[in-house]
Amino acid sequence: MSSHDESRFTADVYGARLERAAELTRAAHLDALLITPGPDLQYLIGSRAQSFERLTCLVVPASGATPSVVIPKMELASLGASAVAELGLQVVDWVDGVDPYTLVKSILNAGARTAVDDAMPALHLLPIAERFGTLPVSATPVLRELRMSKDPSEIDALRRAGAAIDRVHARMGEFLRVGRTEAEVSADITAAIIAEGHTSAAFVIVGSGPHGADPHHHDSDRVIEDGDVVVIDIGGPVEPGYFSDSTRTYVMGEPSEEVAERVAVLERAQAASVAAVRPGVTAQSVDAAAREVLVAAGLGDYFVHRTGHGIGLSVHEEPYIVAGNDLVLGEGMAFSIEPGIYFVGEWGARIEDIVVVTADGCESMNKRPHGLTQL
Ligand code: ZN
Ligand code: ZN
Ligand code: ZN
Repeated sequence: MSSHDESRFTADVYGARLERAAELTRAAHLDALLITPGPDLQYLIGSRAQSFERLTCLVVPASGATPSVVIPKMELASLGASAVAELGLQVVDWVDGVDPYTLVKSILNAGARTAVDDAMPALHLLPIAERFGTLPVSATPVLRELRMSKDPSEIDALRRAGAAIDRVHARMGEFLRVGRTEAEVSADITAAIIAEGHTSAAFVIVGSGPHGADPHHHDSDRVIEDGDVVVIDIGGPVEPGYFSDSTRTYVMGEPSEEVAERVAVLERAQAASVAAVRPGVTAQSVDAAAREVLVAAGLGDYFVHRTGHGIGLSVHEEPYIVAGNDLVLGEGMAFSIEPGIYFVGEWGARIEDIVVVTADGCESMNKRPHGLTQL
């Protein structure tokens, strides 16, 4: 791997992660992690292999023994020569006609207790459970401590992702104009997301007028009108695979007094949550900070979702910033802070930044102005 390859971190980064994953597996009194293609596999060895009906599976023994990759011979290239050579993984390739689940079992001791990644298809999970004679547990509680706390190279990737999506928001006046449809605006934003440094656009929400009141709206043939409030929530991955995710709320022309006042409250609510972030506080206290501001202004009933979600190699991952989550935040955790207010049939607004917990607070990956932006 050349040092100019932005698609992966260096081998020592993955080596340390594999070592730590084995330790955490041991601490959880499990014998091995079984990881199929998805964010956990990408996290542990940098592989972008995809899941198919033929099993590809990383086996990480809790003992600290060399991890193995069970992989169809015809998919070997997808693993990347570097992963095998630099990480010293043991490759167990197989051809059609061989039972790969028995191969997985043969690597471990009889009766081994395993944990599997959340992305493992039932197609593979069920035969694994059958061969081992027991249902595996989820690897997420084992890996979450590791995956939640981003190291400096991951934080750098999130910073680059944040800057890239900020550049798209900075250009919003080029795309979002009265008389265009949401779908036309979305197509232009999609192109800009890629032009500004993402490898793809993972999601583009253009919620104009009443569509802004649907947090899950994508786009439609609705034509943007003068006076519309428009929610723009966009993001995608930046090499080596870390996501951006940022929402800003725009208004076409002059906002009504009510819109201006309510979005100003939302801006204070979002800032209150950002200000509440530091090591040692709980995830739910960060959610409560925004909620209290909205409740005090009589807008609590219009904030219908959690305040945020973790982000990294997945758009949504732990930690979730939600009531009931007493997880204590620690340095390096990365998550969104995105309160919104939704007036069904009328309009909606959301403000979203990605923040990373620092020693005494947090650093925001997104630096665009937070208030209602007039176009
Ligand atoms: Zn929807
Ligand atoms: Zn978002
Ligand atoms: Zn988000």
